[in-house]
Amino acid sequence: GISILWFRRDLRLEDNAALYHALKSNYPVLPLFIFDKNILDKLPKTDARVTFIYDTISNIKQELQSAGSDLLIKYGKPEEVWPEVLKTYEVKEVYTNHDYEPYARERDDNMVEFLTSEKIAFKTFKDQVIFEKGEILKADKTPYTVFTPFYKQWQAKLNDFYTKPYPTKKYFKNLFQTKSLPLPTLMEMGFERSELEFPKLNYKNKLAHYAKERDYPALDSTTRIGLHLRFGTLSIRKAAQDAIDAKSTVWLSELAWREFYMMIIWHFPYAATDSFKKQYDKIKWRNDEKEFKAWCEGNTGYPLVDAGMRQLNETGWMHNRVRMVVASFLSKHLLIDWRWGEAYFAEKLLDYEMASNVGGWQWAAGSGNDAAPYFRVFNPELQMKRFDPKFEYIKKWVPEFGTKKYAQPMVEHTFARERVLKVFKEALS
Ligand code: FAD
Repeated sequence: GISILWFRRDLRLEDNAALYHALKSNYPVLPLFIFDKNILDKLPKTDARVTFIYDTISNIKQELQSAGSDLLIKYGKPEEVWPEVLKTYEVKEVYTNHDYEPYARERDDNMVEFLTSEKIAFKTFKDQVIFEKGEILKADKTPYTVFTPFYKQWQAKLNDFYTKPYPTKKYFKNLFQTKSLPLPTLMEMGFERSELEFPKLNYKNKLAHYAKERDYPALDSTTRIGLHLRFGTLSIRKAAQDAIDAKSTVWLSELAWREFYMMIIWHFPYAATDSFKKQYDKIKWRNDEKEFKAWCEGNTGYPLVDAGMRQLNETGWMHNRVRMVVASFLSKHLLIDWRWGEAYFAEKLLDYEMASNVGGWQWAAGSGNDAAPYFRVFNPELQMKRFDPKFEYIKKWVPEFGTKKYAQPMVEHTFARERVLKVFKEALS
């Protein structure tokens, strides 16, 4: 018999909790990755993240081959792939890492049922966060819904134990030895190779100046590790330890924001699609399709908004300060449902993370955790003057800025502000 290590969003061989435990089990370990049709069928054929996953998986496959083993790769729906796998191999145990999103939970609940009926153990581990689920709770054992006290406890609890890497390589001799297994091509799965450039993992030199520079979109001062945390090509334990070593508490707190939102999605899965504060779902959004299109394309006439949207469209990434501004502009100035913006980001962002994206959008719309009160409406002109005073970021992404060709503001700020206050007040009082 064998153990299977099922990779999902933990695509690395070093410091991987489930892989470590699998390698210490009583059976040789065969790693598996499923290109999940339930997810892939909804994506555009040029989705860059699929290329990233594909290349990562190919590298892992090679590394495993040089250890005499291999990566079993399947393309299909997990519920159909698994019975096939069990026909080919005598599987005794399945090891995998926790996954907190609603789809993943449903998939894993079904797995437990299926594997139990086959008398196979399903063993799961915490890997993608430092603290998960109910590890950080209020004194009354309920989850935090506000970041600051959550972070206080998160930081107090953090010590070397939680950042220690899992020494997987030491146990590679316990990998299942096999002749080489096939690798489907991207094309066979209906995808095209994306030419987008993926951020490299060389973030350490950013940490020293992060606190001072992170809010200025013209500076390349943030680490761009979002994609790597999303797919597990970087271990969160390593990132947290690097933050501690560099004494960058501000950056450490950003990693905690990520965990805060994952904790929220775990305890309040409804907030993946509904407003966290439910009365916000009474808001009468205008949802004007033409205005939505102008926002998507970066033609609103507000330079900071347009620069951000064009950066997103061209590179698959947008600076955090600008994400806040464009999200506020869509939900408040244009009164378009935050879910439209959330879905657009989900399609475009390389670092798309459901929990953080929904969290960020609801924060901007006012419906979420720790959100600014609804009557605080970002002024995109003031934000630009404050955070891009020399228009460096703007000029990079909006070359026609300052010329006659540049669009007029699609809505006047004071008018938009009064309109949103009225509409929100009606829904919320
Ligand atoms: P850095 O500033 O270097 O931070 C390091 C890491 O910390 C990030 O990669 C991320 O994992 C985490 N982090 C930082 N800020 C936040 C935050 N506010 N919330 C949660 N995690 C954070 N982040 C995503 O990872 N995926 C998303 O889909 C996403 N959508 C967002 C949508 C909106 C409307 C807003 C306002 C923010 C969103 N964020 C999202 C948070 C933040 O903008 C990005 O994490 C950050 O800009 C990514 O760049 P970086 O990797 O250089 O981050």
